This record gives sequence, structure tokens and C-alpha cells, in this order.
Amino acid sequence: MMEPVLTIVVPCYNEEEVLPDTIHKLRQLLLELMADELVSKQSKILFVDDGSKDRTWDMIYKEGLKSEYIRGLKLSRNVGHQNALLAGLFTAKDLSDCIVSIDADLQDDIQVIREFILKFHEGCEIVYGVRKGRETDTLFKRSTAQGFYKMMKILGVDLVYNHADFRLMSRRALQALERFNEVNLFLRGIVPLLGFRTDVVYYDRLERQAGETKYPLKKMLAFAFDGITSFSISPIRFVLMLGLVSFFMSLVFGGYFLTLKFFGDTETGWTSLITSIWLIGGLQLIAIGLIGEYVGKIYKEAKQRPKYIVDIDSFNLPFSRHRLLQQTDDSLDFRKISDSNK
Ligand code: UDP
Ligand code: MG
Repeated sequence: MMEPVLTIVVPCYNEEEVLPDTIHKLRQLLLELMADELVSKQSKILFVDDGSKDRTWDMIYKEGLKSEYIRGLKLSRNVGHQNALLAGLFTAKDLSDCIVSIDADLQDDIQVIREFILKFHEGCEIVYGVRKGRETDTLFKRSTAQGFYKMMKILGVDLVYNHADFRLMSRRALQALERFNEVNLFLRGIVPLLGFRTDVVYYDRLERQAGETKYPLKKMLAFAFDGITSFSISPIRFVLMLGLVSFFMSLVFGGYFLTLKFFGDTETGWTSLITSIWLIGGLQLIAIGLIGEYVGKIYKEAKQRPKYIVDIDSFNLPFSRHRLLQQTDDSLDFRKISDSNK
């Protein structure tokens, strides 16, 4: 039997601190998998540099020159984790039978990749890595993440609980994924929609080895909000319900105020009047803002802008690896290389 070609896709944003170790460990794993004849010798690790400002691309690039198992993809600017991941998945797709995605900080146990491959051999097209617990995360991260899953569930979005973007996908699954043309592609919500035979592998999540999280609270909130609004229209329904309730309430109050006007002292109406002006005004603003969110989404989708732009793919470089290796490190000018590539 022919072994499947595996590509491990690793999005990297300012990861110079963890990268040397990550490269070493992943290559070791790949060599072991090859030795055990679980994956083909054509298998690769694809590092996607998501517009890093530190030496990340330098490192990826040089490793790529040294080892035939390492491929580097440099995006033209920072496009965020999800899009960097997509860039890697779609770039690797044509040359691989299966693809595993994993974060650069190796918080996810890389030994689980072996189990992914075994499941793939059994015929699974999608295999999710699921954390057993979140002991290593801070209490804050844990509770916000759990809140996120709960909220998504209430809003009717089907997510795999405690699964981040550590998963295996077959080429067929990726071809299906590619047909989802949306610009706001929320991977964790879309992948379960693909169907196919799927399975789950449980593992313990470790701590980030070095460097710090690239997902501060602001990005996390944006991510959660994006996830909700690109998947569910429940917020709009909620606003509609609120609108209906306040409409009926205003009818009741309106009747009450009219009665007061004809039979009593009108001045008492001022308090309730000013309160309801604020109330209704607030509700309207919320509603308009929310609808604006969705209109914004439609606007983005209508434009169909590319989700990422590739600057350099180390596979397409015009130079032979030997010639580049002979140059000193300083003379490696990446800009020149990418320009002469065009
Ligand atoms: N990442 C990226 N682009 C970004 C932010 C993050 O490619 O704009 C990568 C990052 O290098 C890492 C992965 O996404 O490989 C997850 O980031 P991180 O580990 O910081 O997130 P956390 O595990 O804290 O949620
Ligand atoms: Mg991490």
C-alpha cells in the first residue's frame, strides 16, 4: 500500500522564541512517522508566516533550505490566525493526502498526530483533537472560552466542544471546504458542516512553551463575536422580540398616560416620558448597530476580497537550494528573492 502524503500546517505570528524547538520536534515526529511507514517520504511541514515582525520568516526560510521536509509560506501581511491557517491548508492541499493543522507554540500534544494518521488509515476524513481539560490555561481564559462554547450552543452553532484548530483533514474534506466561498470563514463552525466520516482524539493540553499568547482579550472577543454573527441570526431575532415587547409595553403605558391626561394631573407623566424616550432610543440604537453588523458582513462578502495574499512560497523559489546555501546569511535578501520570483 502507498503511504499517504502528510502535510503539517503551522501558522506562525512572531514566534521566534518557540520556533527552533517547534521545528525540531515536528521534524523528529515526521521522521518517526516515515520510519514507521505511516506517512510517505514526500510528507512536509508547512510553516505559514503570518506577516511576523520578528525573525520568524528568516528562521523558517533557512530551515527550509536545510531540510527537504520543510516548506515555508510567507504571507504579504498579517491576516490573523484563521486566514493564515487557510492559506496553509489550501496551499498544501494539492500535494497532500491529509493535512494536520497545529499551533506553533505546541500547546497541543504532537504525539496525537500519530493517532490522527491511524484514524485516517482507518478511513476517517476529519479527525478532531479535543482537550480533556483546561488545567494549564489561566482561570480567565478557561471561563471565557467555556462561556463562548455555551453561548454558541444557545445560539444554535454546532461546535466541537474544547476543540481548537488541531485537527486532521483529508484532501477530499479540504476540497469541500474550499467550496465555502465566504470571506468570514469561521473554520471551527464550518468543518462540522462538511460531513464525512469523522472521529475524535482526546489529549491533555500543555502550556505555551515560550513567548506569549497572540490572542489577547480584545482579539478573543472579536473572534467570538465574528463567530456568532457569521453563523447565527439569533441576535437579530432577539432584537425583534425586544422591539415587540417594548412596543406592547408602550401601548399599555400610552393608554395609562392618556387616562391620566383626561382624568388627572398631567405633570406626573414627565418621568415616564423621559424614561421611555431613553429606553426606546437605546433599544433602537442597539437594533441599528446589530443590523449594521450584519450589513457589514454582507458588504464584505459582496466584495469577495481574497482572504490572504502569498508573498513567498519556498517551493517556488527560482534559485537552487545549493546556491543559496553558499551565500552568507547576511546576503540573503528576502525581498530581492521575492521580486525576482514575479
Ligand atoms: N497566529 C497567527 N496570526 C495571528 C495570531 C496568531 O498566525 O495574527 C498563530 C500563532 O503564531 C499560533 C496560533 O496562531 O501558532 C495560535 O496563537 P496563540 O498560541 O497565541 O493563541 P492561544 O493558544 O493563546 O489561543
Ligand atoms: Mg497557544
